[in-house]
Amino acid sequence: MTMLQGRRAVITGGGTGIGLACARDLAQHGAEVILMARNLDRLQAAAAEIEGASAIQLDVTDDASVADAFKSAQAGGPVDILINNAGIAAASAFHKTSMEEWRRIQAVNVEGLVRCSLAVIDDMRKSDFARIVNIASIAGLRGGAYISPYVASKHAVVGLTKSLSLEYAHTQLTVNAICPGYVDTAIVDNSVANIMAKTGRSRDEALAELTKNNPQGRLIAPEEVAEAVSWLCSPLSASVSGQAIMVSGGAI
Ligand code: NAP
Repeated sequence: MTMLQGRRAVITGGGTGIGLACARDLAQHGAEVILMARNLDRLQAAAAEIEGASAIQLDVTDDASVADAFKSAQAGGPVDILINNAGIAAASAFHKTSMEEWRRIQAVNVEGLVRCSLAVIDDMRKSDFARIVNIASIAGLRGGAYISPYVASKHAVVGLTKSLSLEYAHTQLTVNAICPGYVDTAIVDNSVANIMAKTGRSRDEALAELTKNNPQGRLIAPEEVAEAVSWLCSPLSASVSGQAIMVSGGAI
């Protein structure tokens, strides 16, 4: 299980949920993983449990923070794999959405991803092996009521993925997106709490609202997303690029 031996991987939002599962799985495949997010205590605790892992504080919305974090990561050698996973979600009716809220979501989910990708692109386009995997969402492929800023941000992620894939197809860099349905993480906990608060429904009823669009009728485990991410990072996935792959319990 050492297909990624000698490779260095940055995972944004790597201290929790899907990002942490990706970090664990990539490390199991031999990669040196570098976890980045805002909450340094949580990152360090997560890194301590993964062999060879390190933690660097990062706010993807801040130019200087991204520059510092990647400079520090690149001091140990080039970054071969970037998992753009940091993201936020929020739900409300479109007519109640402020421009401030719209900007808050695009700033993390879209601009943050662009900032981190720009920080590695020069090394990656010259490298003999490089991978960018963007954690989009099934919301990047279809509409969704009450989550329009999030849906728009994830559509942007899928569009960026396809464009970068084409732009760098003549190099050894592949760029793909994973599009999960609802995954059992803090984002879903918050969504369930939000539905309960806004509709008076019970926890089970709120959860059923989220899982009803998954044909398997369940939440997806973060490890199932990580499995797909690691496959995209493997050397034998070199001809897979520009794809938006659903991990969605069979939703199509
Ligand atoms: P999560 O546990 O809340 O993970 C989000 C991560 O992003 C956190 O580790 C957070 O760490 C980090 N983050 C947020 N804002 C940041 C910022 N400004 N700078 C740096 N890091 C930041 O939830 P998750 O479900 O694992 O989400 C991971 C990704 O999966 C997101 O892009 C999300 O949209 C996507 N996704 C989730 C689901 C789902 O159902 N859970 C479905 C489809 C797609 P800090 O707070 O420490 O910064």
